[in-house]
Amino acid sequence: MVNTKEKIWLSSPHMSGKEMKYIEEAFSNNHVFPLGPNVSGLENDIKYYVGTDNCTCLSSGTAAIHLALILLGIKHGDEVICSSFTFSASANPIVYEKAIPVFVDSEEETWNMDPQLLRVAIENRINNTGNKPKAIILVHLYGMPAKLDELVAIANEFEIPIIEDAAEALGSTYKGRHCGTFGEIGIYSFNGNKIITTSGGGALVSYKKEYCQKALFLATQARDSAPHYQHSYIGYNYRMSNISAGIGRGQMEVLDERVTKRREHFDFYKSAFTSFDGIEFLQEPSADFFSNHWLTTLLVHPEKTRGINRENIRLGLEANQVETRPLWKPMHLQPIFKHYPAYLNGVSERLFENGLCLPSSSNMTDDERDYVANSIKSLL
Ligand SMILES: *Cc1c(COP(=O)(O)O)cnc(C)c1O
Repeated sequence: MVNTKEKIWLSSPHMSGKEMKYIEEAFSNNHVFPLGPNVSGLENDIKYYVGTDNCTCLSSGTAAIHLALILLGIKHGDEVICSSFTFSASANPIVYEKAIPVFVDSEEETWNMDPQLLRVAIENRINNTGNKPKAIILVHLYGMPAKLDELVAIANEFEIPIIEDAAEALGSTYKGRHCGTFGEIGIYSFNGNKIITTSGGGALVSYKKEYCQKALFLATQARDSAPHYQHSYIGYNYRMSNISAGIGRGQMEVLDERVTKRREHFDFYKSAFTSFDGIEFLQEPSADFFSNHWLTTLLVHPEKTRGINRENIRLGLEANQVETRPLWKPMHLQPIFKHYPAYLNGVSERLFENGLCLPSSSNMTDDERDYVANSIKSLL
């Protein structure tokens, strides 16, 4: 039996044991600074893994989104389309640049940006303002790839660049190609709760070399090439440290194992609830979609559970020392974002009302996930 005093976490860091050799190397060479050989090494590992030519590691996924917007020339007053159903870090950098987020709701299959609604939003913004939105921030939430063919086709038709927020989707693919490599720019996060971690960090990838070069330049205080400190651009300190990158290198060695484990958790939960009518999981709509299943997420339909709702389950699990979380609260409902334009169909609001993220850490034991599933069953 599980010791119920020990909390079961939603998504905890999971070291491989291979990290220390990179960190020790950094210490023995006194490479205890930003950038350095581990950072270049991690960039190479990511390039190889996702199949892209260019990668710049940064201090966070948020920093990567911010720089992506700057690279695309987003300025004061420009409109930037963004998935409404996401974490606030997808949208905050739009406001850092004093641009205007325009939120687009989800479709029901992948829970990501609805292509039809994207088209409506673009056409409506052009009609209303006379200007085209300047970029689209497309999120692959919980590791599930968005409907990329449809979304990319619309973006191409209107010639609007896509920034792919693949913070939660490292290791996910669509038609065999890695999430993050479909747009002009893609970003990943290595925050502590993501599928792999550098304790905190991110990466920006692009098929365009100049984007990654300029990202590095801006992230390192935008220093012109001169013997003195000279600046022609506003710079940022968004570098990744060589120590963090050492953790990342050790984590990249086991990324595929981590994906396999999280997918196993999903399969386990799904089969545990096949006979429960009122429980529905977010699952791959077809073989084109390969999710890393960063978090297993479900919907509770109280009309089929004799009234038991998401909150009953969440609070019941909390009392059993199991950490779960409601799905992301859509951006158009957030106090800080609710006055911005939004194109809605009710999907993300329903997901927010009925959805729950289950413990999905790759270091969760079989006993622990049995305990989670049995606790939910007894609540139902
Ligand atoms: C975690 C996350 C980010 C931000 O990444 P950080 O590395 O934490 O800054 C952005 N978007 C989404 C969807 C995320 O889940």
